[in-house]
Amino acid sequence: MFYIVGRMFKAVFPGSFDPPTLGHLDIIERASAIFDELAVVVAENRQKKYLFTAQQRLEMMEEMVKSNKNIRKNVKCFIWDSLIVDFMKREKTRLLIRGVRGMDDFSYEFELSMMNKALYPHIETLFMTTDPRYIVLRSSSIKELASFHGDVSLMVPPLVADALKKKFAGT
Ligand code: ADP
Repeated sequence: MFYIVGRMFKAVFPGSFDPPTLGHLDIIERASAIFDELAVVVAENRQKKYLFTAQQRLEMMEEMVKSNKNIRKNVKCFIWDSLIVDFMKREKTRLLIRGVRGMDDFSYEFELSMMNKALYPHIETLFMTTDPRYIVLRSSSIKELASFHGDVSLMVPPLVADALKKKFAGT
């Protein structure tokens, strides 16, 4: 239908990105190499409690994307506070990328993809397996480690490590 215009493949990579990690960045780098356009969507879900505001997560993500020389100039970042399928309808795209680190991620992601397909039958969820270097990277564990002033420098770029340090300074 109208989703593929002149064989332009536009994909969406949504997430909480609280905070964005090197694992997320790797998925973005690889997806940006495959697709013509990639929308990175920072989720703002009023039911969830985040460490960083949506604006802070967006700015960190934009900076990470901009300063990574391996990422093509085809990535745009957005904040979205509603269902991802509504974003995809608005952007006229049907390709949703999710990263998987293992079977636990996969079973969760599989259910999520079924729910999204029920809401929007045109959707195709594509799973990208993590790079083995990033298999243990998880935003929640990174926050926990940072809260104990642990070293997160191999897990997130310096700007995120600094932001975490500031958040937990004085604790
Ligand atoms: P969620 O959107 O479920 O809140 P995140 O913001 O942590 O989760 O992650 C967004 C997407 O990135 C998800 O598909 C998640 O599985 C994937 N992801 C997170 N960390 C990694 C990693 N280290 N390697 C590959 N994919 C990852």
